[in-house]
Amino acid sequence: MALIRSKGNLTTEIALGKLLWAAGLRGYRKHWPILGRPDFAWPGLRIAVFVDGCFWHGCNCKTIPKSNRRFWLNKFESNRGRDIRVTRALRRSGWKVLRVKECALSRPSTIKRIAVAIESRRDVAA
Ligand SMILES: [Zn+2]
Repeated sequence: MALIRSKGNLTTEIALGKLLWAAGLRGYRKHWPILGRPDFAWPGLRIAVFVDGCFWHGCNCKTIPKSNRRFWLNKFESNRGRDIRVTRALRRSGWKVLRVKECALSRPSTIKRIAVAIESRRDVAA
């Protein structure tokens, strides 16, 4: 199974882990065994966070390799298609799904989005 390639790599995952910790957002589990294996999840609150590596997801911040251009374009396209399918399927079963681009990790708005999701789900659970 080729599960690893399009996920955020270890560096981005560690980076987000540190940011979550610094923001006081604890209690997450890594690689929770649901569809898509989210990088971070709060299973009790049904919140899943995916870190999307910029290269593998064809983010605008990266340049497409010149050789085998068509191959890469297809690859990015199919990765994005899978992201959308995974996101939809999880949402349908009640998960709040947040996707974070690697290049947006350190933006304050990223952590804010996660914090807001946790807070609003906690209110519902309480
Ligand atoms: Zn990017």
